[in-house]
Amino acid sequence: MDRATPGDAALRLADINARIDRAASRIEGRQAAPKLVAVSKTFDSEAIAPLIAAGQRVFGENRVQEAQTKWPGLKAENPDIELHLIGPLQTNKVKDAVALFDVIESVDRDKLAGALGREMEKQGRHLPCLVQVNIGDEPQKAGIAIAETQGFVARCRDEHGLDVVGLMCIPPLEEPPGPYFGRLVQLADRCGLAVRSMGMSADFETAIVLGATHVRVGSALFGSRG
Ligand SMILES: *Cc1c(COP(=O)(O)O)cnc(C)c1O
Repeated sequence: MDRATPGDAALRLADINARIDRAASRIEGRQAAPKLVAVSKTFDSEAIAPLIAAGQRVFGENRVQEAQTKWPGLKAENPDIELHLIGPLQTNKVKDAVALFDVIESVDRDKLAGALGREMEKQGRHLPCLVQVNIGDEPQKAGIAIAETQGFVARCRDEHGLDVVGLMCIPPLEEPPGPYFGRLVQLADRCGLAVRSMGMSADFETAIVLGATHVRVGSALFGSRG
């Protein structure tokens, strides 16, 4: 797929929203429509603006520094935008992350959770957080181990003062994601967490059918990242 033109962006957004609705309609007794997190990493303000103009309000970025080059301006013009951090967070970037983002989806260790809790207190910005789970138990991957998730969620709340609302995962590449999505939903149920952020361009419909409340879609909206 080539880089999207502005007109394309609006069409792709409409198409993704229709596919989200269709997948969601397959779930009996579902509560709320799944939320689309438009992943704008590597794309600049010019590529993002048409999606905002077309009504998209929830966006995701995976790098704090990159997000700082585009989002302060876009958020000043559109105060109702909700910006999610979906990538790994180093503790030396916590201050900037808390100032810029509205949801942190990648909380995965005590050192980070502690730094976030202290910084949110300092800035008076108590952001909703998701705990990232290493759902495929992959050695190199970010995320807390499955077996440690419940205990970690409890510590995030009780010791670090974080408002944990859900779980996030990125399943192993090159494997059918369904079983991993199912595992995340089970784990979220066990933790009493309502938000499940799972599913990307290639598999967001599967994720929705299995219980995603948030899907993170990048290339299907913006075009390939080259
Ligand atoms: C890049 C990214 C996405 C979006 O991936 P696409 O395949 O482009 O839809 C979703 N989640 C995370 C954490 C990402 O880094």
